[in-house]
Amino acid sequence: MPLLELDGVDAAYGELRALWGLDLRVEEGETLAVVGANGAGKSTLLKTIAGVMHPTAGRVRFDGRDVADVADHRRVALGISLVPEGRRIFRSLTVQENLQVGAYSRRPGPWDLAAVFDAFPLLADRRNRIGAHLSGGEQQATAIGRALMANPRLLLLDEVSLGLAPVVVGDIYRALPTIAAKGTTVLVVEQDLGQALSVADRLQCLLEGRTVLEAPAVELTREQVAAAYFGLE
Ligand code: ATP
Repeated sequence: MPLLELDGVDAAYGELRALWGLDLRVEEGETLAVVGANGAGKSTLLKTIAGVMHPTAGRVRFDGRDVADVADHRRVALGISLVPEGRRIFRSLTVQENLQVGAYSRRPGPWDLAAVFDAFPLLADRRNRIGAHLSGGEQQATAIGRALMANPRLLLLDEVSLGLAPVVVGDIYRALPTIAAKGTTVLVVEQDLGQALSVADRLQCLLEGRTVLEAPAVELTREQVAAAYFGLE
């Protein structure tokens, strides 16, 4: 049984349909990358899984359970944690305090302060620095670390590389295998195809709210993904 299963999910903002009958599976322990151009529906997909938005049709099942009636804050308790686009950390709290906030609704599991500092060595040196004084990459790492402190079974990452310098993006992505090695399942939304292919076990490409490509990452070339991304095939 997949950890996460979407069947025929439609989602809309008023009259504007953003997802059209979307099917998606994530197996326990795997890393799925969802790629697509601006407006393809990637953030809408994550909001629908996290319960911030509710589908107008279709089913979302987590660990075999239909979560339609489970509110977003209850989904964290089930083990679904979303790191939204824009790395919203507490600017007046230190790195360590931000991480401790994430432990507030903590499930049992492998993640604690030491494990987060191990996955993101750049944070260990900054643990007493306040959020406002962190670089973009340090803020992003703090946001991901805070989500991990809840010990999610499924970590949802929305465009972690957005607006970051390439070298910093490398620091963030280097943590993903460590996260996966602890058994945390990851669904990462990414616009950078190279990054997506390098970290994912499987890749799903969306175009205008529909899946246009879905395959194990090792079976895909960058050219194939780019063609699907731009709707060229
Ligand atoms: P981006 O990379 O720009 O975030 P995305 O793939 O995440 O793109 P979504 O943000 O899910 O795409 O957007 C899907 C569609 O829904 C787009 O047509 C977008 O304009 C629309 N949309 C997204 N958010 C809203 C909103 N709050 N209100 C109305 N329409 C929205």
